[in-house]
Amino acid sequence: MSTYQLGLEFALELDENDALAAYRKQFHIPKDKNGNHLIYMTGNSLGLQPKNTQSYLNQELTDWANLGVEGHFEAKNPWLPYHEFLTESMAQVVGAKPIEVVVMNTLTTNLHLMMVSFYKPTQKRYKILIESDAFPSDKYAVESQLRHHGFDHKEGLVLWQPREGEELLRYDDLETILEEQGDEIALIMIGGVNYYTGQYFDFKRITELGHKNGCKVGFDCAHGAGNVQLNLHDSGADFAVWCTYKYLNSGPGSLAGCFVHERHAHNKNLNRFTGWWSHNKQTRFTMRDEFDQLPGAEGWQLSNPPILSMAAIKASLDMFHEVGIEKLVEKSKKLTGYFEFLLKTLGEDVIRIITPENPKERGCQLSIQVKNADKSLHHKLTETGVITDWREPDVIRCAPVPLYNSFEDVYRLVEKLKRILK
Ligand SMILES: *Cc1c(COP(=O)(O)O)cnc(C)c1O
Repeated sequence: MSTYQLGLEFALELDENDALAAYRKQFHIPKDKNGNHLIYMTGNSLGLQPKNTQSYLNQELTDWANLGVEGHFEAKNPWLPYHEFLTESMAQVVGAKPIEVVVMNTLTTNLHLMMVSFYKPTQKRYKILIESDAFPSDKYAVESQLRHHGFDHKEGLVLWQPREGEELLRYDDLETILEEQGDEIALIMIGGVNYYTGQYFDFKRITELGHKNGCKVGFDCAHGAGNVQLNLHDSGADFAVWCTYKYLNSGPGSLAGCFVHERHAHNKNLNRFTGWWSHNKQTRFTMRDEFDQLPGAEGWQLSNPPILSMAAIKASLDMFHEVGIEKLVEKSKKLTGYFEFLLKTLGEDVIRIITPENPKERGCQLSIQVKNADKSLHHKLTETGVITDWREPDVIRCAPVPLYNSFEDVYRLVEKLKRILK
């Protein structure tokens, strides 16, 4: 049912009719030495900077300069409750209730904090299941949790693997694993959109399978947040974590998000690591009280957070709030569908897209396996002004981001690829 056509004219026409086209102008698009815009396809790695970010940061710098410590109360956006200004928009982005979401720490830190609460191994049930091609940081974090509890990190790790000659994961295989060793698995932790293949998993299905077998279930949504329409609350997952510097455009190393399902919001018996920011806001500064657990995801905070990083997140989330994740995903499907259509004209003997074909099972990223290619292909693309991401042995990952990539970007990228591969 392809409604796409070949040629530059068609790309320009799509851009002209794109309701979100104006947002591109609200971003700094990197340029080459001659001042020409690069074709930036790595928003899955580091999102571009909204032009607004600077003024959001300046606001906090100015308030700090003028107010000093009083900024906690007197700043235009008081620092004491600053994280609360992010909660509602962030909850919308990930399909959660405000009480389930908090912005704090960094991604891998949050993953550990979540495992402190939701990975409680016993001698019989101690294994952790992850996808075989999980992001390295997730795998290392999970392995270290196994060791921390005195288990062997190889024996205790269960891998959900693709079948021989395939890249994508099948739910049948997950079911088989759970039938065979579900009573030994304490935690299922999956990268919600796999960083390598771009496969977007069915959270609800995985969560139901896990819970049926007595496992806790969590997702790393680093490649999902701001990219696909997440539905964390309805999925029933116990927890989720994500970063904000990829699709959420909040700057290198910016703070991360964390979701804890509402059903755990008031459970004070959950094991956890705490600090003064997990304590009741009303009495936090009395300083001498017994610890009094904050309800909801906020109760997992440890420290008073870096406001400058939160200001960058606010700049980005205000834009997401204005656009709405539904509209964004609608454009994304069109943009990536167009990309796929053009790539297919290169022929199956030249490239193979390993990302799922079904738009419901992917975000904007396409992972393209190029026959007989090596890293020189990536270098050639870079020389012609295209920023993509290379994964050994032969895969380029490209993520046309609906907020700032155009249909013309996609058209020009495929033209360049075609020329290089000839
Ligand atoms: C990007 C990414 C990370 C990075 O972790 P940090 O703690 O932010 O450095 C971890 N896991 C996944 C799945 C990622 O995509």
